[in-house]
Amino acid sequence: MGYASYTVHRNGQTITAGYDVAATCEQPGCDASIDRGLAHLCGQTPGGDEHGCGGYYCGSHLYMSLEDGVGDLCGKCITAFKRRP
Ligand SMILES: [Zn+2]
Ligand SMILES: [Zn+2]
Repeated sequence: MGYASYTVHRNGQTITAGYDVAATCEQPGCDASIDRGLAHLCGQTPGGDEHGCGGYYCGSHLYMSLEDGVGDLCGKCITAFKRRP
């Protein structure tokens, strides 16, 4: 991957993603400017995957899972991930 801009389906919506797409951190109350590149993605797959919700977050609201195949996760998802059996 490494596309500047592309569309993804997320929760029944079509959104534009990619590192060329300016966005705001999706954490409520945070207005940090980010882009919709994979560096800001929760999970590893645009649109969401098994562990990630597919949201885009700033560096303060994305946490390293430190596990292969999981990637960085937002606060909500990392909490769920750590709680799994
Ligand atoms: Zn998430
Ligand atoms: Zn943020």
